[in-house]
Amino acid sequence: MQDTKLRKIYIYTNGTDMSIEARNKFINSLKNSNFDVLYNEKSRKELALDADLIACIGGDGTFLHFAHDCDFPSKPIIGINTGHLGFFQELNANNRDIERFSKAYFNNEYILQVIPVLETDIVFKNGIKERIYAINEMMVRGPLTNLTHFEVKINDTVIQNFSGDGILVSSEVGSTAYNYSLGGSIVAPGLGVLQLTPVAPASTNAYRSYHSSIILPIDGVIRLTTARRTADEPIYITYDGFESIFDDVSYIEIKKSSRLINLIRFKEYDYWTKLRDKLI
Ligand code: NAP
Ligand code: MN
Repeated sequence: MQDTKLRKIYIYTNGTDMSIEARNKFINSLKNSNFDVLYNEKSRKELALDADLIACIGGDGTFLHFAHDCDFPSKPIIGINTGHLGFFQELNANNRDIERFSKAYFNNEYILQVIPVLETDIVFKNGIKERIYAINEMMVRGPLTNLTHFEVKINDTVIQNFSGDGILVSSEVGSTAYNYSLGGSIVAPGLGVLQLTPVAPASTNAYRSYHSSIILPIDGVIRLTTARRTADEPIYITYDGFESIFDDVSYIEIKKSSRLINLIRFKEYDYWTKLRDKLI
């Protein structure tokens, strides 16, 4: 049955002409539905909190920026793709897809894809802690001029003394992004795993590192402790297209956070079709 309750919608858009055109089309398609479009008199974070539904218009990069800008809101999100790939987006920016949405939404003809958010604690030598979040991945490395060394633990067990450029920890949805370029595996969403992928691992008589990805249960905790020269060098963390640099790092702990993102999918959403259409 059609649900007619008024819903507040917040529309996040990147600034391209194509996105602005898609935004106008989308707002036009909502005219005869019970949507109240929220405008930017508040901060993005407040708008996302206030809304019943969020639309995000852009590519995957825009989606990642949106999630960080709005502090990883848990409200249902509908993505409209105006970027290159559009893994996170369910709608293309054409009239057919856009006009179909509000009817499907009010008829409850959709499912939610729940996406876990990664959490990284950077623990400094003085014991102070800093936390960052990411959807796709966390890539931890030293300056690229020398080998970076980490002791790698999964839960409480040391699994290797890594030497190379760095280590990338990917979520399921991030498996098709940077992880994939590094030779990591594509992971079907919903399996409940993290993937640890080495970046240029050294394999010599002096240093031995795993050179394939390791896939572990999503409740695992990965701890990277700085070792050898790395203990005195800055640590670079690259995540979802952002980068932060930290000095005096003792160790870094990466795990699934308690935050979840809810993406709207039409009922016939099929990951394998999306993968085929986007990646090859
Ligand atoms: P960008 O440099 O503009 O784009 C990187 C590309 O990755 C874009 O085509 C983007 O799609 C795509 N992408 C993002 N998330 C994806 C996902 N989950 N699955 C498949 N493809 C995905 O940077 P950006 O748009 O801000 O995206 C940030 C991401 O870039 C990072 O999270 C990292 O995964 C990726 N990255 C990749 C490499 C590499 O492959 N060597 C190096 C650094 C960063 P859209 O075109 O739709 O935005
Ligand atoms: Mn991009």
